[in-house]
Amino acid sequence: MTSSIVKTTCPYCGVGCGVDAKLENGNLIAVSGTTDHPANYGKLCVKGSSLHETVDHEGRMLTPMLHGQPTDWDTSLAYVSDKMKAIVAEHGPDAFAFYVSGQILTEDYYVANKLIKGFIGTANIDTNSRLCMASAVVAHKRAFGTDTVPGNYDDLNHADVVILTGSNLAWAHPIVYQRLANAKKQNPSLKVVVIDPRKTASCDIADLHLPLKPGSDAFLFNGLAHHLIAHNKLDDSFLANHCNGLEAIQQTVINQTLQQTAQDCDLTEDQINHFYSLFANNERVVTLFSQGINQSSSGVDKGNAIINCHLLTGKIGKPGAAPFSITGQPNAMGGREVGGLANQLAAHMDFKKPEHIDRVARFWNATNMAKNEGLKAVDMFDAVADGRIKAIWIMATNPVVSMPDADRIKAALQSCDLVIVSDSQAMTDTSQYADVCFPATTWAEKDGTVTNSERFISRQRGYLLPPGDAKHDWQAICEVAKRLGYEEAFNYENSADIFREHAALSGFENDDERDFDISLLSQISNAEYHNLTPIQWPVNTRHPNGRSRFFDDGRFYTADRKANLIAVQPRLPTYTPNSGQVTLNTGRIRDQWHTMTRTGKSARLLEHIASPTVQIHPETARQQAIANNALVKLSDRGISYIARAEITESVRADSLFIPMHWNDMFASHARANSLVRPISDALSGQPEFKHSPVTITPLVAQ
Ligand code: SF4
Repeated sequence: MTSSIVKTTCPYCGVGCGVDAKLENGNLIAVSGTTDHPANYGKLCVKGSSLHETVDHEGRMLTPMLHGQPTDWDTSLAYVSDKMKAIVAEHGPDAFAFYVSGQILTEDYYVANKLIKGFIGTANIDTNSRLCMASAVVAHKRAFGTDTVPGNYDDLNHADVVILTGSNLAWAHPIVYQRLANAKKQNPSLKVVVIDPRKTASCDIADLHLPLKPGSDAFLFNGLAHHLIAHNKLDDSFLANHCNGLEAIQQTVINQTLQQTAQDCDLTEDQINHFYSLFANNERVVTLFSQGINQSSSGVDKGNAIINCHLLTGKIGKPGAAPFSITGQPNAMGGREVGGLANQLAAHMDFKKPEHIDRVARFWNATNMAKNEGLKAVDMFDAVADGRIKAIWIMATNPVVSMPDADRIKAALQSCDLVIVSDSQAMTDTSQYADVCFPATTWAEKDGTVTNSERFISRQRGYLLPPGDAKHDWQAICEVAKRLGYEEAFNYENSADIFREHAALSGFENDDERDFDISLLSQISNAEYHNLTPIQWPVNTRHPNGRSRFFDDGRFYTADRKANLIAVQPRLPTYTPNSGQVTLNTGRIRDQWHTMTRTGKSARLLEHIASPTVQIHPETARQQAIANNALVKLSDRGISYIARAEITESVRADSLFIPMHWNDMFASHARANSLVRPISDALSGQPEFKHSPVTITPLVAQ
């Protein structure tokens, strides 16, 4: 018997835990946490520790499919490239789009981005990360001049106060939650504040829970800014030397008094005062924010309202002091680095700067460089629906389940001339609408890099052979690119080749204004790439061993190197419930991942919550005569969702909560996001998943 251990990275959430995969005779028999991985130091959550239960070939797509029939790669690639050529020739490059995923590796992202932006000539590439952290990206850029996460997980060990806002860390990022719980054990004076309309599992360690009115977060943080100004809690020196925009903030928050904030947020003045005093009177404060902030029609403003409070008090760039957006997906951050969003170029470069477009074009020898931003996710599927986009390649994501107004996505795909789906699974809600399916490798087979929420680049190492004819996503993209005539630009031998090119493109020689690159990794050998240990970008001559914290030097990436305080006018969600309606909140549960194509295979994971449930406040249940565990129907605009009632005081009387995971593959009428209206933040394009008005009725009369 031969046995071995392969060090790799968990494919689920943005915590990015290191995983030791234990093999016997080439088969995965167990997983454990990598003891020296800086994200998890040997720990895994229940999803991560069940990984070996989800790695099998059941349900895998093993050959390309053309119009529902198995075929071979040559036939399917020829079909795709011929159709793409014809569509682009007749309708122009903007008739093509990629919709990719925070699940794919940085190397996959890089070549997809290069093909569409450099050679097809459109920036119509967006990602399901748009649904997850796009608002935080824009908030960072407005405040710091670039999309940079200032802090890291270790800050939790140095903080006096940790605020979780719009984040059920205990379920969505369990290992970071465990790190926080441990930090609190080590330092009992550490205070934890949870700001969330729901009483979630994260409240188990909270000293204070603020169950605010859904969507009122920016009122609360503007109220905090008012409190800090009124109580002389500003860091005057930091503001004078490192920030712009104080006067505008002072004007904006002048009326956001304690009394007004209590009214706006539906909280008591005592609750708010408690929170404000903790923030104002402690030096080291970390504010972790996630989808409850980002998934909003004003998510960018909410992010900036939080960042403002850190800048006003200089609580940034120091151990234990940071606003910290934590990403949802394993490689949401990697996608940001290679420009995998419609409004970005690679290496944090920008379509708004002609010199950046020119630099990328020269580096790639691009034959048809895109000059303008492309369509963001919701707009992209609108363009599919109305025929502006005639070909779309969907990779490692399931938009028929995950996009807002998900039924519209079905109709859009049905009307599209060419739908290509790359997936490891044979049958998904989305692949049913594909003209061509490409079988893709998945975790255990894929080989490349991912970047986690705190900027650690880690290797995901393939240790099993791809089943059937499955290929890596980057290989499928390169095969199509070659058939489109771009042989030379897409002639990679392996993922290391792509990584070196990405690292080289990221570097700006002698450019002190930019410090986001990994240019020092551009010359690594295949063996060095294979053995790469986790490292936090940037990795360059100034930071050869990476950089754990940004802004510790007080220098931001704006023209005058000062941070921008952004005056924010808070507003409630676009749609508020009418009489008879309640606000629907959707989100993750502890033991499932996205649309369950992998975690749904584990009986152990299904034990936690086995079927879709609707959390309902007892008062709402009483009004609607709904009994616990009864089947209920949620509806809006003729669309319905059916699930069992879980009557609980953990949700407010004006709200419901349902998990986002179930779909037509697992239960009928259980696609949560079909109820979500396609409203997005105007600045980030991130949809408002958290605030959909619905009616709830018993399915069967009680
Ligand atoms: Fe995987 Fe996230 Fe769990 Fe870590 S916390 S084991 S990355 S799911």
